[in-house]
Amino acid sequence: MAPAYDIAVIGAGMAGASIAAELAPYARVLLAEAEPMPGYHTTGRSAAFFHEAYGGPQVAPLSMASGPRLRELGVLSPRGSLYIGREEDAPLLEQYVARFAGIGAVIERVGRAGLKGRIPGLRPEWTLALYEPACADIDVAALHQHYLAEARRAGAELRVSARLETAEREGEGWRLGFGRAGEARSRIVVNAAGAWTDEVARLAGARPLGITPLRRTIAQLRTNPAPPADLPLVLDINSRFYFKPEHGRLWLSPEEETPSPPCDAAPEELDVAIAIDRFEQVVDWHVEAVERKWAGLRSFAPDRLPVYGFDPRREGFFWFAGQGGFGIQTAPAAARLAAQLLLGLPRDAMTEPLDTALYSPARFG
Ligand SMILES: Cc1cc2nc3c(=O)[nH]c(=O)nc-3n(C[C@H](O)[C@H](O)[C@H](O)COP(=O)(O)OP(=O)(O)OC[C@H]3O[C@@H](n4cnc5c(N)ncnc54)[C@H](O)[C@@H]3O)c2cc1C
Repeated sequence: MAPAYDIAVIGAGMAGASIAAELAPYARVLLAEAEPMPGYHTTGRSAAFFHEAYGGPQVAPLSMASGPRLRELGVLSPRGSLYIGREEDAPLLEQYVARFAGIGAVIERVGRAGLKGRIPGLRPEWTLALYEPACADIDVAALHQHYLAEARRAGAELRVSARLETAEREGEGWRLGFGRAGEARSRIVVNAAGAWTDEVARLAGARPLGITPLRRTIAQLRTNPAPPADLPLVLDINSRFYFKPEHGRLWLSPEEETPSPPCDAAPEELDVAIAIDRFEQVVDWHVEAVERKWAGLRSFAPDRLPVYGFDPRREGFFWFAGQGGFGIQTAPAAARLAAQLLLGLPRDAMTEPLDTALYSPARFG
């Protein structure tokens, strides 16, 4: 007889781990992960920053609601960010200020003089910037481990090397097949499979929502000079690069969004070369070596908002997907809200300001 659970969460990246931690005090939870190590895919490959406006004004409430919890857990360290531009980018920077005026983020205009002090060796054409003091580095591994430990403490069972291969309705719930990792029965399935969410939907007989994995690359560079430890996260207002310091090295991304099938994403040489070329147009530093490079898949729904809620057609099938480029920084509020929706619990101080309709799978008809 297959063991019985109330809820089977598929995928143990940040999404699966965080929702399992929120659900486990109330239900018998199975957290099933295809890989031998949770966090192997997108969660282990992020740029590890918290940026209030990142993902747009409708994602910002999730990030803002998560900030206090992330601070309380001690996983944030101050960094600050600068969106930079040239003279011709002035309208774009002003549009950015207008777009985010309502979210409650502090955004300060910085001119050339202020910029030079913050980014040594900055080339003269970069004259404009927006500074956001709340931006921080996130200790992603610590946050992920926190959620896995919380889930385990509350009784959730983590099963690794357990790829969901079959999901069939049986009576009031599901019969789930994990190949050599056995079977399980569960009342509800939570789809937290990152880049594989549409695949998991298909195998459970739910309609895929068009959640598309987009590849993004990061290169770790040794530069001369080395980046100062207090360098802010520097982002291009035209979304062509971002970079930040990491233990005396530089993490640089060309901010590409290349559609990809769900897979173990690998970086392309060309994307690294493009990133370095763009970086060399920003500062006069010498790139001495590419020490490391990696890529991960950021998965977006068609409207680029996350998807939390029960599928309107497939009974017992709950979406926790489409975390795009913000799944780490939104994890506390996203997981709390999704658990409340799933269990029918009232909202609390963290989730009260959130508009659930924005994130509902029902918005796709
Ligand atoms: C380069 C890059 C930079 C980023 N920077 C940031 C940042 O600075 N801040 C931020 O907040 N976010 C950032 N992100 C986004 C963030 O990393 C993601 O939103 C988040 O990690 C998504 O978590 P997830 O759990 O949905 O996906 P994943 O971590 O990919 O987890 C999904 C899991 O599901 C498992 N799985 C799939 N199919 C099955 C199956 N059939 N059965 C069982 N398990 C299955 C997979 O093995 C995987 O472990 C970045 C992403 C990238 C790629």
